[in-house]
Amino acid sequence: MRILIVGSGIAGPLTALSLERAGFTDIVIAERNEEIRGLGVGINLLPHAVREFTELGIADRTAALGVEPSTLSYYNRHGQRIWSEPRGRAAGYDWPQLSVHRGRLQVELNELVKERLGGVHRLGRRLIDVQGSTAVQGSTAVFELSDGSREEITADIIVAADGIHSAARKLRFPGEGDPIWSGLTLWRGTAFVEPYLDGATMIMVGDADQKFVAYPLGPVRENGTQLINFIAERRCEGLPGADWNRQVEREPIAEFFEGWSYGWLDIPGIIRSSEELLEYPMVDRDALPGWTFDRLALIGDAAHAMYPNGSNGGSQATLDARTFAYRLATADSIASALKAYEQDRLPSCTALLALTRQTGPERVMQLAYERAPEGFSDVHEVISQEELETIAADYKRAAGFHPDSLNARSSLNARVAK
Ligand SMILES: Cc1cc2nc3c(=O)[nH]c(=O)nc-3n(C[C@H](O)[C@H](O)[C@H](O)COP(=O)(O)OP(=O)(O)OC[C@H]3O[C@@H](n4cnc5c(N)ncnc54)[C@H](O)[C@@H]3O)c2cc1C
Repeated sequence: MRILIVGSGIAGPLTALSLERAGFTDIVIAERNEEIRGLGVGINLLPHAVREFTELGIADRTAALGVEPSTLSYYNRHGQRIWSEPRGRAAGYDWPQLSVHRGRLQVELNELVKERLGGVHRLGRRLIDVQGSTAVQGSTAVFELSDGSREEITADIIVAADGIHSAARKLRFPGEGDPIWSGLTLWRGTAFVEPYLDGATMIMVGDADQKFVAYPLGPVRENGTQLINFIAERRCEGLPGADWNRQVEREPIAEFFEGWSYGWLDIPGIIRSSEELLEYPMVDRDALPGWTFDRLALIGDAAHAMYPNGSNGGSQATLDARTFAYRLATADSIASALKAYEQDRLPSCTALLALTRQTGPERVMQLAYERAPEGFSDVHEVISQEELETIAADYKRAAGFHPDSLNARSSLNARVAK
């Protein structure tokens, strides 16, 4: 069975690795870029994703690329702590959480694909059409090459892992339009700074109108500094274009955060010392009624682009890839495998998308702001412990990573019958 994957971002190589683990070897990955360049900044893989990396046998390689955050803590604009929880193994999971540079992760995943499957990448191929996706004949993908010529690749199944601007999704939903803007703009960057708190804590400071997120991406170096990833976020007028690689000046963004310095953390200082600053609108897409169409399946952001609240982009893509391979290995037909994949993943992602639009677990920050805009001496004066715990636990259940259910769930490892 030939499976064509479109896109070599995160979902694409993970689908290839999952299919290989399940016994499928006739795989092609087509990517529009001429080379696999590791782009982006930090990304978090939650324990449910790291479990899949472990069962794919790639966790050691990817763990070496990042760090395991010990704690997640939320603060208001005055630097007062609202909520703090252990993460990963410290929270009772059998698997850690991993903070990693997306570019390094993308390169490593594609390298692992080459090691396990050989030369399956076809670069410089931009998907422009999918023809003849019928339940019996398979599909033909049409690609445009950089010289303007076209190439067709026919496969039994096409898996579209072509991201938030997915061409395959647009072909199926031509009236959908651009991604939907939340009104917030994100500025992402990395900086070498002196470690804050224990050197392994992910922090979120602010509220729904302005926020700063930071987490370490590497160990403390000999000179005492540590690489961190940060995201500065603010409600703004005017939608910036949804291009992941747009660079902007640091100073105007640092000025938005003037005064957000608390002794243990100097937010404007971090922004000013960043290596580069990438501007991106906080956008998502509405939930779809279906992700599979005869022999075509959407996966990752192509199926369910969400806001980054709660670190879902890479983690949900991982679950998609593993579920897809599991269903293909265990179903009695391609049609039933694709439907089972959709039934396993679409309802939970639809529910999660709705939660991320309500800011997900970060809702505690907005509640603290609404109830005590000038700050508090004790957070329990404004939000009870029970309410804080409920918000955190509800989100973990919805995102599929509550420790009780995750540790008990059966494995998605399966082998196709020969
Ligand atoms: C350049 C870039 C930087 C990013 N940076 C971050 C970040 O810093 N932090 C974060 O949390 N998330 C980032 N993301 C998003 C994150 O990778 C996704 O949310 C998540 O990992 C799901 O990945 P995906 O593989 O579904 O989509 P993506 O990671 O977006 O990958 C899609 C892939 O498909 C390719 N592609 C697109 N259209 C076509 C086409 N027509 N034909 C062929 N190939 C096509 C793209 O070049 C890309 O390689 C970034 C995405 C990109 C593309």
